[in-house]
Amino acid sequence: MRPDKNELIQMLSLETDEELNELYKRAYEIKKSKVGTKVYFRGIIELSNICYKNCYYCGIRRGNPNFTRYTISMEEALTEAKWCYEQHYGSLVIQAGERTDKAWIDFVTELISGIKQLSDGKLGITLSLGEQSEETYQRWFDAGAHRYLLRIETTNQKLYKELHPQDHDFEYRMSCLRLLRKVGYQVGTGVMEGLPGQSIEDLADDILFFYDEDVDMLGMGPYIPHRDTPLGSLVEGFDKEKALKMGLKMIATCRIALQDVNIATTTALQALHPEGRELGLMAGANVLMPNITDTKYREEYQLYEGKPCLDENADQCIGCLARRITSIGETIGFDEWGDSLHYSKRKS
Ligand code: SAH
Ligand code: SF4
Repeated sequence: MRPDKNELIQMLSLETDEELNELYKRAYEIKKSKVGTKVYFRGIIELSNICYKNCYYCGIRRGNPNFTRYTISMEEALTEAKWCYEQHYGSLVIQAGERTDKAWIDFVTELISGIKQLSDGKLGITLSLGEQSEETYQRWFDAGAHRYLLRIETTNQKLYKELHPQDHDFEYRMSCLRLLRKVGYQVGTGVMEGLPGQSIEDLADDILFFYDEDVDMLGMGPYIPHRDTPLGSLVEGFDKEKALKMGLKMIATCRIALQDVNIATTTALQALHPEGRELGLMAGANVLMPNITDTKYREEYQLYEGKPCLDENADQCIGCLARRITSIGETIGFDEWGDSLHYSKRKS
């Protein structure tokens, strides 16, 4: 049933601890009955911080000269993927800035094939590489990727225009989501919460958009300002607690409204609270994406300020992560792809 907008607004407007705990509990119950309490890990490789785009909110935008650009070599990326496989992660995510040139498309294609080969076809591959042509999406799909994350960022088109330069086109981004579906990917999207100028009503519309587009996966997170961006002045006075609360409310409301989709608890939550990702799981999320990028690159992949784990290598993170997950009563779906049940139902 299509969610009721007023109810969404009401849930997103809750403020007191008591009301919020009720909301999270309700969402958790739905998660338990619809998708279970198994957390699926997707190791994330931040393949490159080179980006042709210039989104006003993002630290690695083309126009930021204040750090070194890198692309991880094929060999290193395959080593990270192998590590992921050996840790019994079911899948990994390849994320990067947006590039559409042939050398990049070929490089990614080769990497996907290499990962499939080293894992005997077993590692699931999600891509988060921005807007591409249908041909490119198809090539990457044929090489073995099967899920794609492309956040719409906000469905308020006026706000979208304010947050992006003229040549970034909302309609085009939308059409990419549909191309992804057409090619056969499980499609994930999402938004940032707390963007300057965004209202609760906008977030309710975002959820209706997720419903109408029948998406399989959601990756959402609070907007966190970065000083080297056009929105840098927002760094002063940024209210972490409020941002965290909005991030958790959005997860819970989406779980209640959309039921069986996969919802990620994202690093942006962890940037706001050391246990932000666990709180996300308790509010209804069921996917977690540990960062497996070698620490030597992490300083250079700061989409926002205060990104955590900058000086921890993947191994160290994993030990404490697994412990934290079991301590909140959840299990980990080792060696499983953890596909979206929503997707499986639509296919059958
Ligand atoms: N270039 C690709 C993927 C990498 S960016 C793309 O844009 O799709 C991944 C996500 O990081 C973006 O979709 C955006 O939602 C998020 N992001 C960028 N800047 C951010 C910020 N300042 N705070 C929180 N999230 C941010
Ligand atoms: Fe590039 Fe993505 Fe950042 Fe936009 S959000 S500047 S496309 S990396």
